[in-house]
Amino acid sequence: SKGAAMVTAVAYRLADQTRQIAQTLDEFRLSKAQLLEVKKRMRVEIENGLKKKTHDTATVKMLPTFVRSTPDGTENGDFLALDLGGTNFRVLLVRIRSGKRRSVEMHNKIYAIPIEVMQGTGEELFDHIVYCISDFLDYMGMKNARLPLGFTFSFPCKQTSLDAGILVNWTKGFKATDCEGEDVVDLLREGIKRKEEFDLDVVAVVNDTVGTMMTCAYEEATCEVGLIAGTGSNACYMEEMRNIEMVEGDKGRMCVNMEWGAFGDNGCLDDIRTKYDRAVDENSLNEGKQRYEKMCSGMYLGEIVRNILIDLTKRGFLFRGQISETLKTRGIFETKFLSQIESDRLALLQVRAILQQLGLDSTCDDSIIVKEVCGTVSRRAAQICGAGMAAVVDKIRENRGLDHLEITVGVDGTLYKLHPHFSRIMHQTVKELAPKCDVNFLLSEDGSGKGAALITAVGVRQRELELQ
Ligand code: BGC
Ligand code: MG
Repeated sequence: SKGAAMVTAVAYRLADQTRQIAQTLDEFRLSKAQLLEVKKRMRVEIENGLKKKTHDTATVKMLPTFVRSTPDGTENGDFLALDLGGTNFRVLLVRIRSGKRRSVEMHNKIYAIPIEVMQGTGEELFDHIVYCISDFLDYMGMKNARLPLGFTFSFPCKQTSLDAGILVNWTKGFKATDCEGEDVVDLLREGIKRKEEFDLDVVAVVNDTVGTMMTCAYEEATCEVGLIAGTGSNACYMEEMRNIEMVEGDKGRMCVNMEWGAFGDNGCLDDIRTKYDRAVDENSLNEGKQRYEKMCSGMYLGEIVRNILIDLTKRGFLFRGQISETLKTRGIFETKFLSQIESDRLALLQVRAILQQLGLDSTCDDSIIVKEVCGTVSRRAAQICGAGMAAVVDKIRENRGLDHLEITVGVDGTLYKLHPHFSRIMHQTVKELAPKCDVNFLLSEDGSGKGAALITAVGVRQRELELQ
């Protein structure tokens, strides 16, 4: 009959739609063999970054940090710390006390950095930073203290010492002019001079991964790796000096800031990148750069999701085929929304409520599809992040000539902390891809601030020794 034929036609269309959506998402589902391949390629890029011959053209830069040891508990004093480059900009006062009852006490204030300052001139950016420091010192009643300062600056920096770091390039949402190629410690000191209000002793410039590692190492001596899975993505670890060809000397270890976000910038991940990854890259502030980061960090996951949703809508599978203005808006799916959408405790009705909040009118079927898209994108992110980490811990194991390695990774970042599945999938992937390593993940409480202060404490001590 005519009715039955119509039912069959609808059923056929739905089945076809389901198949096409599945096909789209299949590209994001990586096999174990593919993940092992990612691990292997990361290892190749690690070697390229470490070796003098290949360093200049390497994508994963393996930047020396001049942090030569983890804390030993004798760190002591009052320090200022700045934390720039994560979700928030903060100024902190950190009081570290050594001895039997060692403790760390922190005061901090969060400041907004307006987008026009992030993407204005370097002078404006640093004036703003100095203004915030000034406000914080007033607030703490410490304008005249001249405290040693650790600057957590979460961007790739070429360091020649603990207190000098040339910005290689901006990443994430930053694009202030006249900073790339400059020493950011100089830029900060010049900003302080311009203000003529207070004086500071800038002792260390610190990557957030390194701060995170140091903070965890303060509690747990086996911590020799730092990981950030947040707005951006990156890792650091204690590498053997003999392997760091860019720094003189063969004894002991030094922490290396991998800058693994740039993994894939030479095309080595192109076979797993999808057209949605390419679209996200093309619409970013730094096209062609940080390709791995753009597949696995909080700033971009929502953008991948959004690009898939736009495509599915265009093909008539979602939102009744209507692309709303909201869906065209960059950055709508922040990590916190993705995390909510993927929460297991959430009923579909609540998913629809979240989409509604974002200005997206959805049907029940829409919300199922959106949730699946989010889950697929974040799973791949956790897996490739795990594959990178597997390469790191296996490298450390081999460095030490061990059949089996036990190690702790200090971790921080909104994606790791807020997302309901990212951490579990990432841990699982490391376990599967690096079976000879027993990896313990330790959440760092405020790694950027505390870690910067710990490194500053070590730096002050080193300087005093050198002066004797
Ligand atoms: C930066 C790294 C940083 C990471 C996490 C990346 O975009 O290049 O220096 O560690 O984000 O904040
Ligand atoms: Mg941070």
